[in-house]
Amino acid sequence: MASAIFEKSNTLGLYAMNVPSEFGGAGLSALETMMVEEHFGHTIDILARRAFRNVYEVHFGCDEAQRDRWLYPCVSGDRTVSIAITEPEAGSDARAITTKAQKDGSGWLLNGRKHLISDGLFSDFFVVSAVTDLSTGGRSISLFLVDKESPGVVAARDQNMMGLKGTSHVELFFDDVHLDADSLIGELESGMRQIRTTLGRVCLAQVGARSVGKSAQIMDLAVDYARTRKRFGKSIGEFQMIQSMIALDTMKLGSGLYDTTSSGGWS
Ligand SMILES: Cc1cc2nc3c(=O)[nH]c(=O)nc-3n(C[C@H](O)[C@H](O)[C@H](O)COP(=O)(O)OP(=O)(O)OC[C@H]3O[C@@H](n4cnc5c(N)ncnc54)[C@H](O)[C@@H]3O)c2cc1C
Repeated sequence: MASAIFEKSNTLGLYAMNVPSEFGGAGLSALETMMVEEHFGHTIDILARRAFRNVYEVHFGCDEAQRDRWLYPCVSGDRTVSIAITEPEAGSDARAITTKAQKDGSGWLLNGRKHLISDGLFSDFFVVSAVTDLSTGGRSISLFLVDKESPGVVAARDQNMMGLKGTSHVELFFDDVHLDADSLIGELESGMRQIRTTLGRVCLAQVGARSVGKSAQIMDLAVDYARTRKRFGKSIGEFQMIQSMIALDTMKLGSGLYDTTSSGGWS
């Protein structure tokens, strides 16, 4: 079913909608992306992920030669990528990572581990953050394109979530993984700046706007229940306490929608 929806969404320009049109995507603005994401909230995450997939913005830092191998196949839906930033001791504080990439001839040698990486079992490759200058105490972070099939890459345990069924969130291990010089995305040590381009959209659209859509879906279910559930000879929605709860939640939902879309409009 997901592949049938993928075909339709691709035809409508809804696949990789966040990707600029010059790279073959739908080229939607931040606000437009959020409006679509709000609607995705009415369905389940795995369907949105497989059928409408976003391509992470860190990819736009690829140079022309890298785009053929790493960017365009993602925009067309032929390859899938995960971003691998989080480590057991470096989550909110993404600068605290210890995964490192050291110079190795003209390329790099990658060692370390990541965890909670969405879609890690399904993806073909990863964008991995790593410290490239150990003398700065972990503050010099760069991004690398790492093929899942490279020797030394292990996609390990699927870390179960309470929800989000249908995909994986995995631990990744990198043990002396050799990376060619052209695996580096953008400039050396520009990793944090590049990561923020992706996290901005993920926070606003994929988390913020989609959560508003999910809440609206739950409200619809609640209102429907209040209309149809009968107690003491009437629908429970006729009781003032139930009406009050629905009214308050509807206001919160409206303000959530306003907050997220107005942030999208300004970004
Ligand atoms: C469903 C899911 C999918 C994910 N997918 C990916 C992925 O694809 N790639 C990836 O790299 N990572 C992914 N992650 C990891 C995610 O980025 C981290 O969970 C997140 O950065 C938080 O890190 P942490 O879990 O280590 O929490 P911590 O950083 O340990 O934070 C613990 C708590 O402290 C709070 N906190 C931290 N700092 C502050 C502060 N300064 N002020 C106030 N409160 C603070 C946090 O809000 C949190 O409530 C995913 C996580 C989840 C749940």
